[in-house]
Amino acid sequence: MHINLLGARVDAVDLAGAVEKVAAFVAAGHPHQVITLNPEILYRAQKEPELLDLINRADLVTADGIGIVWAAKVAGTPVPERVTGIDLMLALVERAAREGWRIFLLGAAPGVAEEAARRLREKHPGLVVAGTQHGYFRPGAGEAGGEAAFTAPGRAPVASSGDGGRPGEPRVPTEGEVVEQIRRARPDLLFVALGAPKQEQFIDRYKEVLGVPVAMGVGGSFDVIAG
Ligand code: UDP
Repeated sequence: MHINLLGARVDAVDLAGAVEKVAAFVAAGHPHQVITLNPEILYRAQKEPELLDLINRADLVTADGIGIVWAAKVAGTPVPERVTGIDLMLALVERAAREGWRIFLLGAAPGVAEEAARRLREKHPGLVVAGTQHGYFRPGAGEAGGEAAFTAPGRAPVASSGDGGRPGEPRVPTEGEVVEQIRRARPDLLFVALGAPKQEQFIDRYKEVLGVPVAMGVGGSFDVIAG
């Protein structure tokens, strides 16, 4: 069951229901996009038809915000509860460890996805992390090296050269290389932490070439998990 809120389709699911839907997406195998919709994005989508269209093309949209839960109730079409990005991610990671689903963590500052993965594996020893990659890659499809400079949060710009930086610096791949890296890792679940709506746009643009059964944006969740 889903409702319509300011032109956006929102699924009337609780956390357990969202996990079951994702399990069905993994079983189906073809690409699916999951969005935890917060009020800021719904507001922005009112002025950006492309963003509203993207939301309505997603396979599962949860109400991520008390404002959304409340608005649904006022509209006479209540949703059971708020389902946030981090809550859904943690529930899916738990399920992934049990089912043997492979996960990939894309996004956040260099080192954060790795630390988040380490902590998740510590909590769920059977968890298969198919790969991690920081979220400060360069636009473009080509090989790393060349034109653009790159700035990670709290760091000086790193001139891209050769492998993307000085020895000891995290490598700065291009967007095309990141897509190829994920595709080769063959995850079942891809968590993307680039902030909304950048992460949703990344998933929408690449989901078919990635071939990952389930991709979802998780905002600042890797920072929270990494502590
Ligand atoms: N981020 C990233 N690449 C970018 C911009 C942001 O990896 O180009 C990461 C950032 O380091 C942080 C997350 O995306 O880990 C965004 O978190 P925020 O809480 O701002 O997201 P929101 O909850 O607003 O979607």
